Amino acid sequence: MCLFCKIASGEVPANKLLENDAFLAFHDINPRAPIHLLIIPKVHVEKFQDVTGELMAEMTPFIQEVAKKLDLDENGYRLIVNNGRDGGQEIYHLHFHLLGGTRLTWPHFSPEEAKKAI
Ligand code: AMP
Ligand code: ZN
Repeated sequence: MCLFCKIASGEVPANKLLENDAFLAFHDINPRAPIHLLIIPKVHVEKFQDVTGELMAEMTPFIQEVAKKLDLDENGYRLIVNNGRDGGQEIYHLHFHLLGGTRLTWPHFSPEEAKKAI
């Protein structure tokens, strides 16, 4: 079982904010913003590239509810999904990073970096 499956089942503790039968939102252990939540489906899906449209359709209102609960629906927030190796994914259980609580800057890449082939 992967780490986020263990968090979903309660085997590993997490600082939970909201959950229902299918989804869970909990605080990231290493926050990159004043508010940094991870939102996961309870079912194991490796990465965004594998998720079905049906599951995403159910996940969308859950993410919106999390944002509302955090009072971020008016001022805004950022959603990030790191997908696969080049996306920088470390934990292979689909998760949305929800970041907020400040005016976030847009990541800066140099023109050289933008052109660089891997
Ligand atoms: P990613 O690089 O997109 O796979 O992100 C994985 C995220 O999981 C990172 O932001 C980590 O800080 C976070 N993380 C790792 N272990 C835990 C944990 N036990 N509880 C909460 N967040 C975690
Ligand atoms: Zn899993």
